[in-house]
Amino acid sequence: MNVFFDGYVHSGTTLKELVDQFDNVLRKKVEIETTSDFNSCNQIIPCVSPFYIEKQFQAVYTNAKFKEIQREEWGMICCNCIPISKQGCISTFDVLDKISTYDHVKIVHYVVYYNEEECDIKCTCALFEMRGIICRHAFKVFQMKKIHVLPERYVLYRWRKDLKRRYTLVKSSYDDLRDNADVRRKIFDDKQVGVGELSAHQVVAKVEDVVVGTQYSTVTQQTPSNND
Ligand SMILES: [Zn+2]
Repeated sequence: MNVFFDGYVHSGTTLKELVDQFDNVLRKKVEIETTSDFNSCNQIIPCVSPFYIEKQFQAVYTNAKFKEIQREEWGMICCNCIPISKQGCISTFDVLDKISTYDHVKIVHYVVYYNEEECDIKCTCALFEMRGIICRHAFKVFQMKKIHVLPERYVLYRWRKDLKRRYTLVKSSYDDLRDNADVRRKIFDDKQVGVGELSAHQVVAKVEDVVVGTQYSTVTQQTPSNND
């Protein structure tokens, strides 16, 4: 809760001020989220490897989640993958992960089970089960097995950049922020496909108009609560 209200409340904040600030905190979070969504749709983070699976995630994940995928891909460099056994369609691998801390290096041992028929993978680190991110150890096995595209079940719907989150369908006092984000996105979409004849200057001017509109409506909506 303290982190949630960080910068908005202090030890002398009254209950009424807390209620007012709660609205401000939510508004700020919606603003950050809409900006992040907008950036994910319009700024493409370059791939860091020739690994085709990275492109698969680049195309659909929000920038924040794609960066987490890239961290795991980078982590493959520190992993040594050794095939151990094969029973039917299940292959087992030992993956030795070299983890560096500020003063020493340690080797951590993980086991990865790969079902070749179903392209199903499990790692004992359980990163995917806990955080929904494919771990470096599983990536290492995919690389070894020359898997270039992952099944859809590993590309989680909730982190897609084109996802319309359900709670955004609920009417709220922050709809102006979301509407403005949609307008900004449309301007850039139109620019991408060449719709309209706006120059780059005009597009920037329009975006600035929208941003100013957002700030203005923020101020006008906050004013009544301050006077209560
Ligand atoms: Zn793992």
